[in-house]
Amino acid sequence: MMDCIFCQIVAGKLPSETLYQDEEVIAFRDIHPLAPTHVLIIPKRHIPSLAQLTDAETPLIGHMAKVANKLAQEEGVAESGYRLVVSSGEQGGQIVPHLHMHLLGGRRLSDKLC
Ligand code: AMP
Ligand code: ZN
Repeated sequence: MMDCIFCQIVAGKLPSETLYQDEEVIAFRDIHPLAPTHVLIIPKRHIPSLAQLTDAETPLIGHMAKVANKLAQEEGVAESGYRLVVSSGEQGGQIVPHLHMHLLGGRRLSDKLC
């Protein structure tokens, strides 16, 4: 999906500040951070959204959460607290149509979810 900006990051055709990668996922800093720590964890495979995740792909979400937790520790926000967000679809506020998990931390986040 080369018209997908996150697939271009996976392919190394768009720059990113990559913090972690393995066979399944890559994590990089959000270009417009909403908190001192704002990292995106995405699958390397193009999956449009959570709504398109197949049964076979479901373990990927657990792996993404585990990577997020490891990055939270590295960013020094694991103890102070952090938030993981996955937006799905238009009304869910998803702008980039490639599944991604936001890791937000480093400041007190709003207690209102939206
Ligand atoms: P969402 O609204 O959940 O689809 O979030 C998409 C996120 O991708 C936003 O927070 C953007 O700031 C971020 N983003 C868009 N383009 C890039 C990019 N080239 N590198 C890093 N983050 C990006
Ligand atoms: Zn993609």
